[in-house]
Amino acid sequence: MRNRERAGELLAEELRLAGLRSAFLAQMSHELRTPLNGILGYTRNLLLGGGLAEKQIAGLNIIQDSGEHLLFLINGILDHAAIEADKFELTYGEIRLEEFLSTLIGIIRVKAEEKNISFTCDVDAALPAVVRGDMQRLRQVLLNLLSNAVKFTDHGEVMLRVRSDGPSRIRFEVKDTGIGIDPEQMERIFLPFEQVGEKNRRSGGNGLGLSISRKLVQLMGGDIKVESQLGRGSIFSIEIDIEPLKSDGSEIDVKALSEQSITRTVCDASQ
Ligand code: ADP
Repeated sequence: MRNRERAGELLAEELRLAGLRSAFLAQMSHELRTPLNGILGYTRNLLLGGGLAEKQIAGLNIIQDSGEHLLFLINGILDHAAIEADKFELTYGEIRLEEFLSTLIGIIRVKAEEKNISFTCDVDAALPAVVRGDMQRLRQVLLNLLSNAVKFTDHGEVMLRVRSDGPSRIRFEVKDTGIGIDPEQMERIFLPFEQVGEKNRRSGGNGLGLSISRKLVQLMGGDIKVESQLGRGSIFSIEIDIEPLKSDGSEIDVKALSEQSITRTVCDASQ
């Protein structure tokens, strides 16, 4: 009986500490964001103002990149704290899929170009043009999966496939020919602050992306699945609920989206 009481007390204490930790993280991250937004805002204004020497522009670009990266890390901690405190909520609105995918593809295309790898997109023509969902959070999940795919791929390609899976279900698949994941570490990658594989690849991340993405996808009525082969590549896929909305009759121009692909020859990729 005493043991059971003691176990109950320990659990209550653990929950209290987790609550305090989340509240502290949320408060601190929030406070950090305000001055950082000031730094970023003024940097942007200076760059837009023009009349600067090349050296000054280069310096301001570094401030901007570093500030944006810091903001990304702080936002990750804020999201994590909200998840731990069970205070995470989605904000639903209208998503115009072609526009949404086109922006996403544009961002990843630049990253793939920088690494000299191919990036192809294959979008299902049967998808509804307009759906209801949380656009910002869906973008966050897909950017996390696609950025990881590019980050962990040095040769070959990254592919985004979008499929309609029934009238109110959509499936996104992100495939890469990168370093792959050890089967024993497959569950660890979804834990907060966990990074696996070579140490020199961990910079730039904080190990929070996938744990936040999994929670977001679960809130959207789905889950993230991963298949991977060490040294050969990975496939991360998500399936979520969507509510098709009435559109003005326009359809998704899948050809225009796939034309945004970039194909590198094997020879290019190894340069
Ligand atoms: P990070 O910010 O470090 O990328 P994530 O939570 O997004 O954090 O990913 C956790 C870890 O999972 C990564 O550090 C990496 O070890 C592994 N990982 C994620 N995506 C891939 C991928 N496409 N290929 C190989 N490893 C991956």
